[in-house]
Amino acid sequence: MTEFFRTGRAAAEFLGIDEPDDWRRVEAVYPLLVNRHCLDLIDRSKGDADPVWRQFLPSAAELDDWKSDFDPLAEERQMLAPRLIRRFLDRAVVLVTGNCAVHCRFCFRKRLWKQGAKLADISDAELEAILVALREHPEIREVLLSGGDPCMVADGRLREIIAAFSSLEQISVIRLGTKLPAVWPERFTPQFIDMLAGFDKLWLLTHFNHPNEVDAAASAVCRSLIRRGVPVLNQCVLLRGVNDNPEVMEELFRRLLAIKVKPHYMFHVDPVRGVRHFATGIEAGLEVLRYLRGRLSSLGTPTFAIDLPEGGGKVALQPDYSSGGGFCDIHNKKIINYPDKEMKK
Ligand SMILES: *Cc1c(COP(=O)(O)O)cnc(C)c1O
Repeated sequence: MTEFFRTGRAAAEFLGIDEPDDWRRVEAVYPLLVNRHCLDLIDRSKGDADPVWRQFLPSAAELDDWKSDFDPLAEERQMLAPRLIRRFLDRAVVLVTGNCAVHCRFCFRKRLWKQGAKLADISDAELEAILVALREHPEIREVLLSGGDPCMVADGRLREIIAAFSSLEQISVIRLGTKLPAVWPERFTPQFIDMLAGFDKLWLLTHFNHPNEVDAAASAVCRSLIRRGVPVLNQCVLLRGVNDNPEVMEELFRRLLAIKVKPHYMFHVDPVRGVRHFATGIEAGLEVLRYLRGRLSSLGTPTFAIDLPEGGGKVALQPDYSSGGGFCDIHNKKIINYPDKEMKK
């Protein structure tokens, strides 16, 4: 059984360190939640420079940022029904629960789990209201189950929820957004995988941010989902001090490719309160793409995207190669920096 740690004191004790002074102060605002799986991925000799530590253990910088908004993407204003966020024509997000296995310190929905704000599992009445809203909008063809982490919901209840969306003829894709393959692989029991594999419309979008997270247990979960016919794709977030390094990203994407998980998105951090210290700037993401071009298969290269404020939606960002930015010189119809110099050796 996986152990969960709900206080800095317990996590520090497990790591064999003194609890840092800041932790309690930060936890009073953004509660700590981490499990043994994640703590075991930490290289303790690196301390708070470790990429997994940074993602799940508190930092005083979370409290420095009190000016930002909790909902800069205006999700609350784009609700078609409670918990149903509709920003695009053909797809909408359902907030299934506010629960997660672990609290990512860079979470863009910190508003849903900050002290005193936890969103409960979706009720029958809420689910019914969402189904009514979807029927009124037959142009919506895809639902993204999100939260929180929908896989925190008990097997039987999650089956009911997926079945409800699956039974709507207008819905052709159900996207399950879950971090649990990466942070709590034991959640994926054979029975749970059987349940998910029973839905033809289901795609699973998971969330690995660093190659150290793609361990044997997580890989086994992804492999069995894929073997059972559930496509698994990855979304990562570019995080300062965690993975804002082209070589680290290359390693992450290569490990994902090796287990047939397609790197789908690489997101820039949203300007959410308590998260901004993780922001890298757009240039860091473009740098990753420039580095990968010609070096890594397109299958392994995600789309780099940023969410526009005020619910403006996602925009994909690409390096500008046309001005001779290191790849090819379109104006002179000449390839100037390709293939990678190393290849000529
Ligand atoms: C990201 C997002 C989607 C999915 O957009 P894709 O580009 O298809 O990944 C849908 N709805 C909302 C509100 C989103 O933020």
